[in-house]
Amino acid sequence: MASERQPNLIIVEDEEALAQGLRFNLERKGYLVEVATDGEQALVALEKGRFDLVILDVRLPEMDGFEVCTELRRRNDFTPVLMLTARSQPDDVVFGLRCGADDYVVKPFDLAELLARVEVLLRRTQWTEENGNRPSQEIVPPRLEFGDYWVDFSSWQAKTRQGVVELSQKEMEVMRIFAERPNEVISRRQLLARVWDLPNHPNTRVVDNVIVVLRKAFEESAWRPRHIHSVRGVGYRFVP
Ligand code: CA
Repeated sequence: MASERQPNLIIVEDEEALAQGLRFNLERKGYLVEVATDGEQALVALEKGRFDLVILDVRLPEMDGFEVCTELRRRNDFTPVLMLTARSQPDDVVFGLRCGADDYVVKPFDLAELLARVEVLLRRTQWTEENGNRPSQEIVPPRLEFGDYWVDFSSWQAKTRQGVVELSQKEMEVMRIFAERPNEVISRRQLLARVWDLPNHPNTRVVDNVIVVLRKAFEESAWRPRHIHSVRGVGYRFVP
């Protein structure tokens, strides 16, 4: 492993108790953790220091989390952002991803889930730094079944409208991410980062091209997909 240094995180959250609770749990995992209580403070800290991850609450006084994320990306700062969104506001997810967030958890969140997402995002940075050294795969069931179809992640085979075929590596990896996060919005940026190692690549057409192929395989109608839905301006949602 090239980077043995401790990952450096910043939590941006105005609720003191929640921020301190999170800090405690993240420090226990061996991370260095700073807390900012508003967006302004977070942007100053991010300008001065180098962080591996921002945990960014959407609801903040003055500047909200969307504005913080937008400003960060405007500065060409691509520090991974994990957004904390409110369950009562489903549009937060889509809007957060549009602002350039890398991932999200919904409040009230499950601590284990949040820690797992933090780990995935940090590993991604690490493997980008280490240039192509891929992390171990997420735990996914070896076989995904949905509708009349299935995908077998160990043999790379899939039952499609064209019968049983072998999927390409990219098609396989996109399906694997869908299997990990059914019914959730997955942004093109997330797919680029995970499947193509290109988190900041401006060209998202490669993603859309793979989706075209997957829809041909698994959808009766590309215009009214049952499983692979488009989320306008963001990416896709897989419905098993
Ligand atoms: Ca808050």
